[in-house]
Amino acid sequence: MTLSTDRRSLFKLSLAGAASLAMPQIMVRAAHADVAQAGTEAPAFHRFKLGTFEVTTISDGIRVGDGPYPTFGANQQPEAVSELMAANFLPADRFANGFTPTLIHTGKDLVLFDTGLGEGARGGGLGKMRERLQASGYSPDDVTVVVITHFHPDHVGGLTEAGKPSFPKARYVMGKVEHDFWTAPERLSGPTAQVATLTKTKVAPLAKDATLIGDGEEVLPGITAMAAHGHTPGHMIFHVESAGKRLVLTADTANHYVASLQRPDWHVAFDLDKEQAAQSRGKVFDMIAADRVPFIGYHMPYPSLGYVEKMDVGYRYVPASYQFDL
Ligand SMILES: [Zn+2]
Repeated sequence: MTLSTDRRSLFKLSLAGAASLAMPQIMVRAAHADVAQAGTEAPAFHRFKLGTFEVTTISDGIRVGDGPYPTFGANQQPEAVSELMAANFLPADRFANGFTPTLIHTGKDLVLFDTGLGEGARGGGLGKMRERLQASGYSPDDVTVVVITHFHPDHVGGLTEAGKPSFPKARYVMGKVEHDFWTAPERLSGPTAQVATLTKTKVAPLAKDATLIGDGEEVLPGITAMAAHGHTPGHMIFHVESAGKRLVLTADTANHYVASLQRPDWHVAFDLDKEQAAQSRGKVFDMIAADRVPFIGYHMPYPSLGYVEKMDVGYRYVPASYQFDL
């Protein structure tokens, strides 16, 4: 009896103790509940060193929509796409597509690769590259070279702002094949009309002074263009090397980190020549996997920097972690 009373008292004591310990936490929680969820976005730039170069990826925004089927895998049964998504912990009916321009400071030049969707997309929460470039510590006036990988709206949309060049001190570099394709007058009708019209208004006025390059040509020492045609007829990617460190900017060679990399032969609605684009995917990612070099993919999940491992079919995307912090 005594023992049991003691036990009960002990139990009561411990409850009281727990309550007194818990009380300040409850009060703290009550105070915090008066604060609205902040909802503010992270600055959304990611910076690392590559040799002596400083590389910054900037999120222009993320668009969520239906898919990935049939945007990805239109030449497959829908179930095959659903199964691959499920195996990778992704839903089958919604997907997120991010847009990631890259800024490279070489020590001499500040080079911007692609410009995001631009002012026309701001109402939809996109086109944030300009604001985030400034948040990352640079002004649009600091950019000395603008490189365009291809002429799709999510890459050239930010070239101008209120009818004026967004980067007034920059010179322009773009692929000659791409330029000649989209500026040909016959592209202004039919399925090429939308991009050709945008080219006429947005790109052509700046392109008259641009350096038009081809496969293997240098943009600057350490930055070399490589042809990866198919997504568009003149789609270009860039090999970057500084002090022995390498990186590939693959632009739109692969547009979904699971569908396009694990199944490189699956058709992608955005690819103008679907077979040639699939061949380019195989060629580019075979090289990246064999050389074990990092890459930045314009539509990879932000911060859009990773590696690929070659599998029996396709490649597995491995997002970068602390490799560049060591
Ligand atoms: Zn794109």
